[in-house]
Amino acid sequence: MIYIDASAGEGGGQVLRSSLSLSLLTGTPITLTGIRGRRPKPGLMRQHLTCVQAAEAIAPGSRVQGAELGSQQLCFVPAPVQPGNYRFEIATAGSCLLVLQTVWLPLALGGGASELELSGGTHNPMAPPFPFIEQAFAPLLARLGAPAELELQRAGFYPAGGGRLRVRIQPAAPLQPFDLVDPGALITRRAQAVAPGLPRSIAERKLRTLADLLDWPIEDLEVAACRQNEGPGNALWARLEHEALTELFCAFGEKGRTGEDVAREVAREVRRHQQTGAALGPQLADQWLLPLALAVTQTGKGATFTASEWTEHARTNAGLIERFLPVVMHVTREAGNAVRVELQPQAPEPEFAP
Ligand code: AMP
Repeated sequence: MIYIDASAGEGGGQVLRSSLSLSLLTGTPITLTGIRGRRPKPGLMRQHLTCVQAAEAIAPGSRVQGAELGSQQLCFVPAPVQPGNYRFEIATAGSCLLVLQTVWLPLALGGGASELELSGGTHNPMAPPFPFIEQAFAPLLARLGAPAELELQRAGFYPAGGGRLRVRIQPAAPLQPFDLVDPGALITRRAQAVAPGLPRSIAERKLRTLADLLDWPIEDLEVAACRQNEGPGNALWARLEHEALTELFCAFGEKGRTGEDVAREVAREVRRHQQTGAALGPQLADQWLLPLALAVTQTGKGATFTASEWTEHARTNAGLIERFLPVVMHVTREAGNAVRVELQPQAPEPEFAP
């Protein structure tokens, strides 16, 4: 049993989701206290409760205590994972992608194919939006040995929700860690805006502002296709496709926020990232830790990446992963806010010779 103070460090939902994934992957029972203790409304909200229910569903026979809305304590004793067809619904606009991330690797490494249907939010602030998962995260997982196909059937924006996603997870090959130290040459860059249920001019204005700020030509801009009934909602993202990986920076419009302000946020993030020359952006870095640590553990081979920022999410996730897996992470500062992160398999304990 691993006891986790989920209010320590970043103290948000990621501690819960990573703990559930790692519990399923390693067969380790967990007890969490202080769940989401650093959030304004602590405890399990719909999205987090769905993560717990999803973890329980894919491992039939698991034992769970404390799986209730608002609960700040949870005990989870995992049973073996059974790949198969599952459907997870979040009644609110809570993020489908965060539910997906909880069960993705346990299913991929469970020895069979799975097909998931998820409903809820697909384009949420404070969570990885669908384009980020599809274009930045999933290709890296596939390269590691865990491919999946993702299909966005209907976009669901916060706060309305109502999005739908279908995911086919292939059985993973033996995972192979790899380095991501240098992003390599920039192959393409593209800014896309969507604004379902709102005038097209909103999306166009954001794109124009972003292009001015980043000095990007008009050919790199696009109003992305969407159905009007998927709104109201609006998002702007910039995709940087490099030789080694694709990064994507996204921001959302909301009532009372100007399109220019949304564009400024995306431009700031792109510039901050590009100035460092690091491979991974701040969010991809915290999400990459768990899959990479698994690959390092499975093969006994180390791997290194650079990130443009080492956030509290990343720091907390790294500490949590080290409690479950025999892996050690060394973080060294590079220029600016950038870091170099080295993952090494932990040397086995020397045998006690009397
Ligand atoms: P938490 O705040 O603990 O629920 O965790 C939120 C997760 O969403 C973290 O893994 C963040 O890296 C991720 N996240 C938040 N905003 C974005 C974004 N704009 N793009 C990609 N990932 C994001």
